[in-house]
Amino acid sequence: MSDINYIVNDFKVIPRITAVTKKINLVGQTREQLKEKLTLVGVLDKQLNMRIKQIWHWIYFRGVRNFDEMTNLSKSLQQSLAENYSIDVPEIIEKQESSDGTRKYLVRIIGRHEVEVVYIPEEDRGTLCISSQVGCTLTCSFCHTGTQKLVRNLTAGEIIGQVMLVKDDLNEWPKNTDTQEKKPRLLSNIVLMGMGEPLYNFENVRDAMKIAMDPEGISLSRRRITLSTSGVVPEISRTASEIGCLLAVSFHGTTDEIRNNLVPINKRWNISTLIKALREYPKASNSERITFEYVMLKDINDSDADARRLISLIKGIPAKINLIPFNEWPNAPYKRSDKARIKAFSDIIHNAGYASPIRKPRGEDIMAACGQLKSSTQREKKSSAVMKKELGIN
Ligand code: SAH
Ligand code: SF4
Repeated sequence: MSDINYIVNDFKVIPRITAVTKKINLVGQTREQLKEKLTLVGVLDKQLNMRIKQIWHWIYFRGVRNFDEMTNLSKSLQQSLAENYSIDVPEIIEKQESSDGTRKYLVRIIGRHEVEVVYIPEEDRGTLCISSQVGCTLTCSFCHTGTQKLVRNLTAGEIIGQVMLVKDDLNEWPKNTDTQEKKPRLLSNIVLMGMGEPLYNFENVRDAMKIAMDPEGISLSRRRITLSTSGVVPEISRTASEIGCLLAVSFHGTTDEIRNNLVPINKRWNISTLIKALREYPKASNSERITFEYVMLKDINDSDADARRLISLIKGIPAKINLIPFNEWPNAPYKRSDKARIKAFSDIIHNAGYASPIRKPRGEDIMAACGQLKSSTQREKKSSAVMKKELGIN
């Protein structure tokens, strides 16, 4: 079979670009990339902006997956698009619902890899926790994902695809243009707190979040998206300038000695380097505080002295401290701090003038809580030599 044959659309005769190769997925393409794809199938320059607007609306506002449903495109354009491109999102292979309404999805991406996506409904919002990598290169000792080798980065399409497949499951695509903003959104917030380190897959995460924020599509406010990092210092300022979403930092330890053990990336960028980057984070203000995530581990990082050190470290940074009771997983080397200890820790921080909510564990019965996610793709623990090499430690 020949690679090149010819198709005719409204305007000109052009070569078909993918006769034998797999079709290119339009999900995850930025507007600029979409422009190229449309040019390739012969859309004329003067029609490009209009066509992008129409196709964007169908894919990201209406949730359409077939070109023949895009009724304001000519039949011939629908046909050339269908011959060359696809509109694909990852496939749900398993769905579990917790007694508290939390839904955990196991989804399959190309290469038969799997990632987990969690939807957490609350009274005033519905938060989707999405993954940015299959596994993680980092090896935080309290995190289940950290026991799994990095398999690969997700593409922008696979990242925004997680949002789209959950909108499918919640049946949250408007049937027509009028109905959208009238009822509260079921999926109103995104947190990049699933599997992986988002700042080690910066470009794909950025492109996907830009799509999520685009006002002509899914249209989530940048203030409803939170990116959580373990502390990849060189990429922190780009998060503000190129994405503009809120930032959360997995802090977890108040001395380098403790943090080196819990979050080994601290050996590369230590607490003072991290704090300096956060102080300079351009978006931090009282209305857009940085969230410090702090996992409560019994007798490891939960003393009054830790709470006081934390306060002195973050002095001057508009911050909120999210205390996360440790979510246990099979054979985990830590225990969750007692309730009374967590409360005492929270009170010290609160009395110093910072919000210090204790995160309510959700979806525990289905292992859907933070740090419990793990796919079955790879279960091998990284050797410490490989880990040291990645972190640049001799
Ligand atoms: N890699 C990023 C985002 C994913 S982890 C990061 O580390 O920030 C999302 C949050 O869950 C992080 O704050 C992480 O430290 C926390 N977490 C990981 N394992 C946990 C566990 N077992 N119990 C509670 N929180 C955990
Ligand atoms: Fe990776 Fe975040 Fe887990 Fe650390 S806490 S191993 S950075 S997913």
